[in-house]
Amino acid sequence: MIDKKKIETAVTMLLEGIGENTEREGIKETPQRVARMYEEIFAGIDKDAKEHLSKTFERESSDMVIEKDISFYSMCEHHLMPFFGVVHIAYIPNGKVVGISKLARTVEVFARRPQIQERMTEQIAKEIMNHLDAEGVIVKIEAEHLCMSMRGIKKPRSKTVTYKALGKFEENEKLRQTFFESVK
Ligand code: ZN
Repeated sequence: MIDKKKIETAVTMLLEGIGENTEREGIKETPQRVARMYEEIFAGIDKDAKEHLSKTFERESSDMVIEKDISFYSMCEHHLMPFFGVVHIAYIPNGKVVGISKLARTVEVFARRPQIQERMTEQIAKEIMNHLDAEGVIVKIEAEHLCMSMRGIKKPRSKTVTYKALGKFEENEKLRQTFFESVK
């Protein structure tokens, strides 16, 4: 559970730390606003993707299911700065499929917490693989990291691309190519 009082105290100290006047008109309510915002953007911390991926239905076909361009916003755990972009997911069902919206909900569970892109990619792939008993899963994430765009090496709009392939996608290069072609 999010402790809003703690966040408020921390934001006040942070503002003091950078030399701001915390009584200033525009900033007075900022600790409360940030606490409310954090409640929303870190709502995935105590969530389990099982909630979305356990509602499966049966389907005979083992054709690849692709859901692309699922947009997301997350927070880099190293700098507490946003990284955001799109997730592309494909899986090969083994008798079980989920509603398309459940894949997007799964992305939200892992995006709404302090995160690194590589781990988020793996977590999404593994959860889908496990809950659907899929033959294979592949996840590709393309994202811009504000901690890279605004500071440090300052490369605006450069994209970090990660992917994780499991099962048949890991074994079969042709399947991977089919996926990469379709999400290009
Ligand atoms: Zn960062």
